Amino acid sequence: MGQVLVFDTTLRDGMKSPGTILTSGEKFRIAKQLVRLQVDVLEAGFPAASEEQYLLVERIARELNGPVVSVLARATNPRDFEIAWRAVKSSAKPRLHTFVPVSREYRRHFLKKTADQALDLGVSAVQMAKQYVSDVEFSLVDAFRADPEEVVQLVLAVIEAGATTVNLADTVGCAVPTDVERLFRYLRRSVYRFDQISFSIHCHNDLGLALANSITAIAEGATQVHCTVNGIGERAGNVALEELVAALVTRSTEFKRQVGTRLDQVYPTSRLVRRLTGIAVQPHKPVVGANAFMCETVVPQLADSTENPPYQIINPDLFGIVNGNDQLTSETALSQFQERITELGYDLGEEELKKCYLAFMDLTARKEQVFDADLDLLVNTMTESGEKTRYRLLYLSVNAGSISVPNATVQLEVEGEVIQDAGFGHGPVDAAFKTICRMAKHSPRLVRYELNAVTPGMDAQGEVAIRLEENGHLVSGRGVDSDIVMASAKALVDGLNKLYSMTVQPVISEFTDEESWMPRL
Ligand code: MN
Repeated sequence: MGQVLVFDTTLRDGMKSPGTILTSGEKFRIAKQLVRLQVDVLEAGFPAASEEQYLLVERIARELNGPVVSVLARATNPRDFEIAWRAVKSSAKPRLHTFVPVSREYRRHFLKKTADQALDLGVSAVQMAKQYVSDVEFSLVDAFRADPEEVVQLVLAVIEAGATTVNLADTVGCAVPTDVERLFRYLRRSVYRFDQISFSIHCHNDLGLALANSITAIAEGATQVHCTVNGIGERAGNVALEELVAALVTRSTEFKRQVGTRLDQVYPTSRLVRRLTGIAVQPHKPVVGANAFMCETVVPQLADSTENPPYQIINPDLFGIVNGNDQLTSETALSQFQERITELGYDLGEEELKKCYLAFMDLTARKEQVFDADLDLLVNTMTESGEKTRYRLLYLSVNAGSISVPNATVQLEVEGEVIQDAGFGHGPVDAAFKTICRMAKHSPRLVRYELNAVTPGMDAQGEVAIRLEENGHLVSGRGVDSDIVMASAKALVDGLNKLYSMTVQPVISEFTDEESWMPRL
């Protein structure tokens, strides 16, 4: 059986979801989880875009082993290739990925070039990439609105120049499966080495057809599919990794193709991305939605309860979807705790496990039943990547209610030094925020404030997600606590730490030149 390569672009195209602001540390955590999930190709980013992206790619290439690490470079910018290569070269499997718009609309609007000039540009881009590495992916942007003859000419030329993967991008999400079938058949007829090249597809879900189009491409000989975790991405998003994998696994006899992805990590990955991006997953979303395996139909009890019910085509256990109804309590032993954490997809070292267990016992003192969502939050908070934090909240006390002036008393650690202060506000959260900001010497604008109950019940933990803006820097902050004022304060301190790390980051001018900006796939 042949393979379908899962090309994950959560960290590049996925990050174009409106309002997504992740720190490098958070992106690295996602990359680490993608490695555990065993994706075949991990698109780490676009190193020439910013120093932040460069350093992230560099770290992923250096520290993470397993997938091919792919990085983007613009065909119009020779410097991009040099920067991209410098960032990715320490990976055991580096790939350079370049692209050219092919539809008349895109070519005219963004490139101001004829089809012949675009072809030359594509060829020279592949040649530039080839100077650094043998693994080169070439993408045709907006391929499904382009003249098929021009597509074929460009494909033949870039293969001749050395491209090892050719990716057709439905950048605008307009394709339907018959378009995909037609173009791939045409390519199969025209490219005599079709089987020696890895053909790939990149789809957007504007018409809800991203997965259908990708599956069609596989049936027509594509061996690689671009996707993102939870289908995040600009506009209607990309192909959802979990749906792609579920479709290929469930209908493997139909496709005669295997996927190398570790299935039991599908759900844990989805949850991590949901949590870090703050982008919710709709309840009826296939595979990872809360209702994806719920059935309200009354069905007679099966004689053998281990058998899948007839309406269930996917076994949720296979994808690491655990029954979230089990609850842990203060009686839970360390071994039981560890078992649950492992089921949830975490792989903790002894030290981390002990730290988490202590935090868990602490939580059970405030909360009778601890749900999976609580454990997720706990583990994620306790094992937050080693980003240096400047501010730490040590103590908070607020007075509010029917008193005339709500006030807050705060103890804050700033670079190891403990300071305390008190202040007033229009409510308990406002009082806490104003006091903390004054102590930290920051004056951000609060752009968004959201409070959600993480689990059911009166004693549910509150998760506060905020967005702060200061001097053009936009950051998000999160905090969780069974006390919502405390959760708010933690979210603020989290955001302030990120704001601080952004202001001390050096800016190097070799990155981003707006003039040669080019649309991506
Ligand atoms: Mn895209």
